[in-house]
Amino acid sequence: MSHPLVDLAHKQYYFKSHINESLITGRTNANDENFKVRANDLVRNIDEYPHAFVLACLMDTGVDADVAWTIPYRVFETLGTFDIHELYKVSTEQYAKMFNGDKKWHRYPVRNAGFFYDGVHKIVDNEFMSGDASKIWSGKPSSRDVILRFMDFKGCGFKVANMTPNILYRYYGVEFSDYSFIDIAPDVHTMRVFQRLGLTPYVADQEIARIYTICKARELNPEFPGIVDGLCWEVGRYFCNPSKPKCSKCPFNGFCERRIISKADVWC
Ligand code: SF4
Repeated sequence: MSHPLVDLAHKQYYFKSHINESLITGRTNANDENFKVRANDLVRNIDEYPHAFVLACLMDTGVDADVAWTIPYRVFETLGTFDIHELYKVSTEQYAKMFNGDKKWHRYPVRNAGFFYDGVHKIVDNEFMSGDASKIWSGKPSSRDVILRFMDFKGCGFKVANMTPNILYRYYGVEFSDYSFIDIAPDVHTMRVFQRLGLTPYVADQEIARIYTICKARELNPEFPGIVDGLCWEVGRYFCNPSKPKCSKCPFNGFCERRIISKADVWC
């Protein structure tokens, strides 16, 4: 019998489950709604601009995801193109200047401008990709190969490398020959939720907490450990607040060890 968390994830986070959902939900530093729509359209267009997806993923560290995923569109707006060979002609200094202008595009603008530049150059110079980033996921490869291909990019660590095939599967309808190598990508939200559900122990060391979370997710659903990732992240962000969890509205309240059953709904 599978854990209710896994059952719920299967119901809500399946192949193409998020195909009509925006990747940019609103917490950007842009007030213009149209900007968000256009930024989403660019990263959604993996047939024409597969590198926009890859480069957005590479930006997704140290800032809110919504901020990271608008960066390809900011580059497009500045250059007037997102052709990979045109991006290739831009120097690392030019990217640094763009990222580090009056309005910073990222919390670490110079570092991430470097990741962006290196990413573009890798996509063009790499013999396997030769300018076509969709080679990373085309032809139904093993999830292991996709993760390793992402980890080969500068700036891409375990978390982003595991997050990307999960997003491709749910938001883009990209299939893999297996899903067993896609791990949960632990962050503060998913680790807190795992602990409160009683799945992992409370430990002070965040690295140890990360390992506990990864191992438990593998144990819960070895065929696709990362299937619970998006659901736990959303519950952590929208319900399982560190000090005031909204347990009465939380979809996990039927099986959570630490749920609060009170009108005040206040953590104590
Ligand atoms: S029931 Fe409460 S403590 Fe448990 S995961 Fe949901 S919000 Fe967090």
